Amino acid sequence: MGEPARRLNVFFDVDNTIITWDVKLRPGVREVFEELRADGHTVYLWSGMGPRWEVVRRYSLHEHVADCFWKPLTDHHNRLRELGIPVWPDFVIDDHREVVEAFTGVLVPEPVLPLERDREMWRVLEAVRAFAAGR
Ligand SMILES: [Mg+2]
Repeated sequence: MGEPARRLNVFFDVDNTIITWDVKLRPGVREVFEELRADGHTVYLWSGMGPRWEVVRRYSLHEHVADCFWKPLTDHHNRLRELGIPVWPDFVIDDHREVVEAFTGVLVPEPVLPLERDREMWRVLEAVRAFAAGR
């Protein structure tokens, strides 16, 4: 038996990470959120545009998303408290490198057409699992 996997606070960016520029849901978002929760992780959304509950509502993601926050765009660590983020982002998924480098996580390219070929969310799931398992 190996070490039990860590339970992580997993923070997803919204624009060009889980939705396209024209507000289509990226393939696999719901399935991967389900898998992350089943693995014991907590899923949050954050965005430089503010808490994106309209995206949660539009795609009925309430069951999977624990909370939504403003995302710090600079001075990332120090601004968490000011932005009312009560937990440490253990793993972040973003299309902007600065956020990924400020914490730990995965940089994703923005979704490209044809959307149904986009497999990025499953790559994200594997990366979270590897990190949680200390691999
Ligand atoms: Mg983005």
